[in-house]
Amino acid sequence: MGKDVWAWLLPDGGYGWSNAGLVAGSGASLLVDTLFDLPLTREMLSAMRPITDRNPLTHAVLSHANGDHTHGNQLLGDHVRIVAAGETAAEMRQEMTPDMLTAVQVADLGPVLSPYLKERFAAFDFSGIRPRMPDDTFDDELTLDIGGRQVRVLNLGPAHTGADSVVHVPDAGVLFTGDLLFVGCTPIVWRGPIANWIAACDTMLALDAPTVVPGHGPVTGPDGIRAVRGYFTHLIEQADAAHARGLSLAEAAATIDLAEYATWLDADRVVANLHRRYRELDPATPALGILELQTLQAEWNATRNGPW
Ligand SMILES: [Zn+2]
Repeated sequence: MGKDVWAWLLPDGGYGWSNAGLVAGSGASLLVDTLFDLPLTREMLSAMRPITDRNPLTHAVLSHANGDHTHGNQLLGDHVRIVAAGETAAEMRQEMTPDMLTAVQVADLGPVLSPYLKERFAAFDFSGIRPRMPDDTFDDELTLDIGGRQVRVLNLGPAHTGADSVVHVPDAGVLFTGDLLFVGCTPIVWRGPIANWIAACDTMLALDAPTVVPGHGPVTGPDGIRAVRGYFTHLIEQADAAHARGLSLAEAAATIDLAEYATWLDADRVVANLHRRYRELDPATPALGILELQTLQAEWNATRNGPW
């Protein structure tokens, strides 16, 4: 990566397997996001210690509110300022709590949803998490001085969530995108509008950073941004055509041609993305809760992938 900038990458980039980042200046450093549980975050912070012992963490920027980017916050010392967009702070109060996630791990939610959720969430340990909220918030944009280095934070949301902040380190040519970018893995729209996500891709491309660290998946460059832009352009084309033909959401999901995006991990997220687009096209489309959406996604998997 660029000088004194590091990415902490968790394979394979699926649910909860998120990335983080570290930017060191002279005598200070900045963390980008914590991880989904305390053991994962502890492991990361101790691996970073050779750097943070010399350049202690002074700031942590949260890219967005999802637990896989915030659940480790309490492990940062009180002297570390946690910074996030104001809307991120608001959304953190509405996320599924760690207790709810633990309940989902053990609940019997039926033969389709339970295996789907277990496969995705069983690896994580949600015990002991006490959500720590941001200390400082901003609306659109912020520049931080990290030991003499200028680090820019831009809120390009709402898109994935109500606020989606990217962290740009111009002197190193590195951009941390949070979940505005999934690489090799299907992005999911919790909030939208989808057009705003495409606009966010254009803004990220205009930053012209050669090294791009996604929220999930391996380090990429501008081509990784173009790929996500391509996914959403394709999704809108397919969704709008299905809607114009009068197809229901279920029919649209069953018949969509994912083209080159079909091989991306968690392709079933197309159901949530189509649902979001249908609501944009017709606000009377009923809203669905997260478990309802994940049931539809699990069913979509079952019909697309098997039974073998
Ligand atoms: Zn994430």
